[in-house]
Amino acid sequence: LLSGTREDFFELRRKLAHNYPDGNHEVSVVARAISRLMERVQETITLLEWTSRTDPLTRISNRLHLDSVLEHEMDACAKTGAPLSVLIFDLDRFKTVNDDFGHQAGDRVLRRTAELLKSLLPVGFVGRWGGEEFLAVLPGADEEEALEFGERLREAVATEPFSIGRRVTISGGVARMVTGDTPGSLVGRADKGLYEAKASGRNRVTLRKA
Ligand code: GH3
Ligand code: MG
Ligand code: MG
Repeated sequence: LLSGTREDFFELRRKLAHNYPDGNHEVSVVARAISRLMERVQETITLLEWTSRTDPLTRISNRLHLDSVLEHEMDACAKTGAPLSVLIFDLDRFKTVNDDFGHQAGDRVLRRTAELLKSLLPVGFVGRWGGEEFLAVLPGADEEEALEFGERLREAVATEPFSIGRRVTISGGVARMVTGDTPGSLVGRADKGLYEAKASGRNRVTLRKA
């Protein structure tokens, strides 16, 4: 069975199953053991892939994955001429949440914020940019649509009855991709919008034009 065929494990298994239906030929036993091993390797790879792109606390994309998504989506939109915008936002005075209610309560607020972000997202990708900052990549969205999304999210967070029994707000910055933008320059512009939102009183989303 082994000679004269190419090294194809699955084909070998098929032939063995056909020729030794009782499954007790020793090569069949070895083949089944290898098969189980391969399944476990595949499961491990799948888990590792998920882990490498997921933020463990909020279970949305991590920074590493966001970086590659952003680059890919910017390339795709630049090619087709479709708009692309990003929204970066940061929880306001989040340190006081930790200080007043404890780190675990702070973690719950972050998890719930990620859920709201995911559930409100129209089309696109969201992730945790770091700490208490999140990023939404919105392919197909111009600045008005991105602002509208930011505003809906801001409103949803501001009215969410978080488990701590205190209102939490976010500040955000929006920027639309222009010719020549890199992921760094685009997010940098949105970040300036976020900074302006903080400086002008928080609980708002600011568009930063190129
Ligand atoms: P601002 O409105 O200027 O953003 O004020 P802030 O207090 O939110 O900003 P600051 O940078 O002073 O504090 C951020 C806080 O976020 C401090 C840090 O402990 C907290 N933080 C970052 N990551 C996590 C996390 O994973 N879990 C919890 N519970 N807190 C976190
Ligand atoms: Mg903050
Ligand atoms: Mg911050």
